[in-house]
Amino acid sequence: MTMTTTALRACPSCKSSQIRPWTEYSPEPWNVVQCLGCDLTYLNNPVDYEALQEDFAWEKTYEAKKASSKGSTPLSPYARKIRNRLKMYRNKTNSFRRWFNDGHVLDIGCGDGGRITSPMTPYGIELSTALHKLADERMRAAGGYCVHGAGAEAIWEFDERQFDGIVMFSYLEHEVDVLRVLEGAHRALKETGRVFIRVPNFGTINRRVVGPKWCGFRYPDHVNYFTLDTLRKTAARAGFSLELVNKITLPVDDNVSVLLRKTAPSEVEAQS
Ligand SMILES: [Zn+2]
Repeated sequence: MTMTTTALRACPSCKSSQIRPWTEYSPEPWNVVQCLGCDLTYLNNPVDYEALQEDFAWEKTYEAKKASSKGSTPLSPYARKIRNRLKMYRNKTNSFRRWFNDGHVLDIGCGDGGRITSPMTPYGIELSTALHKLADERMRAAGGYCVHGAGAEAIWEFDERQFDGIVMFSYLEHEVDVLRVLEGAHRALKETGRVFIRVPNFGTINRRVVGPKWCGFRYPDHVNYFTLDTLRKTAARAGFSLELVNKITLPVDDNVSVLLRKTAPSEVEAQS
């Protein structure tokens, strides 16, 4: 396999290069580190977009992950997947409609484009060529469209204040340029809009119990490992306030779900 690693990256949130290695979470050749400036855990030698697209397609790493984490959880991977799918879609459509006011909604990393449903108007960004084609056809039929590209770049192609909602569902853990995509989201969002983010929860008790076999680790396509705290601080750097969605289950939940809204100028003054 040909592989291109980029130069070691600084912290994607606070830009510090002061780090502490997580040796136990860093199988060769990957370096998972914790930023000493803001506590964010991240991969500091990610691969570039093209390599991710070809060599580390989600489907392939998912199969590898399934094999390597066998026995690490009481539920079989199959049962867990079904359970999560059901939970996810039963709850989310109604929540999205309410949060986003049945308006124009951008799904970043939208896959085949089925997450945003009528009466919402769906827009998307998708890196995979095959999935983009499916999503664009589906979204055009529903009044929107899908841009082919990487989230942190493509989001700048939309209009200012175009969207009532932006969804980052199992996306931000993959994004090397976290602040750029969040700043782009801030620009593309209406003043009343909301951003929904769901990422693996590095703060879960499960990660400490299961250790290196925790389901949130995926090398090298997960490049950021957020806790609620580091996600909140990162969002604040891009001008957002954060509200936790999965309040009750967070300590034992393998994912963290949040809603962001634009921080009002008066709140920014109060903070500084
Ligand atoms: Zn940092």
